[in-house]
Amino acid sequence: RQELGKRPEWLKVRLPSGENYKDVHRLMRKSKLNTVCEEAKCPNIAECWNRRTATFMILGDVCTRSCGFCNVKLGLPTELDLDEPRRVAESVEQLKLNHVVITSVNRDELKDGGASIFSETVRLIRSKMPSTTIEILIPDFKGETEAFEIIMQNPPDILNHNLETVKRLYHAVRPQAKYERSLKLIEWFKQRGLRTKSGIMVGIGESKEEVFDLMKDLYNAGCDIMTIGQYLQPTKNHLPVHRYVTLEEFKEYKDFGMSLGFKAVESSPLVRSSYHADKHAELS
Ligand code: SF4
Ligand code: SF4
Repeated sequence: RQELGKRPEWLKVRLPSGENYKDVHRLMRKSKLNTVCEEAKCPNIAECWNRRTATFMILGDVCTRSCGFCNVKLGLPTELDLDEPRRVAESVEQLKLNHVVITSVNRDELKDGGASIFSETVRLIRSKMPSTTIEILIPDFKGETEAFEIIMQNPPDILNHNLETVKRLYHAVRPQAKYERSLKLIEWFKQRGLRTKSGIMVGIGESKEEVFDLMKDLYNAGCDIMTIGQYLQPTKNHLPVHRYVTLEEFKEYKDFGMSLGFKAVESSPLVRSSYHADKHAELS
């Protein structure tokens, strides 16, 4: 591995500000809500909250998987909180969100992997906030189509499932996941008419050619929207950053993706899965 060098200027983040940001922040504190935006210390928080977009994590904070890049606790969750969909829907209403992203840990120990909680959350948000667009960023549900069918009972505006990295690195990065299984998931939902989205991190050890191959695979599986951002190591115990991808390379990925035919490709260092997500909901 080559010497990594100093963190480049483009990864430095400014302190959040802005009217809507302050408003969302105040409401969050008042109602003791937890978002991925804050917990993951997301660099885009000011921009997203100013656009009234936020990401909520459901199904608890303990995950049955052990991805090498992720800072969520590993373990066997014990509880299933059936009231969670109601609370999330109320939060969306209180925050007057234009766009909401719902994601979760993996709950491989549950029969439906938590799909019914996703479905109920979408249903309740729709009933309270019909004009809010909803994106769900789902786990692979071990490829079980019974779980996918439950999701389809209350379809979101955007169905997002991240590939996270190129096929060769799955063992180190997503040991319990399978590249083909994730591609099939995207294909399954696309065939049922949903707008599909997926994302990866770069700078974790992949080559440029491998990224191009992955983009072709995703496009052929029916993926409409892609996100590409720089991997950053959450703690010293996580996979190291392999390299800082240059701005030119991010641009190359975007151009390549658009030439393939994706409807949108967000590709730059601080892009995260839900970055500019509200725009994606508006695409025709
Ligand atoms: Fe929240 Fe996602 Fe925006 Fe980050 S990119 S602030 S996690 S909505
Ligand atoms: Fe983190 Fe998701 Fe992997 Fe669980 S499945 S460790 S929450 S990335």
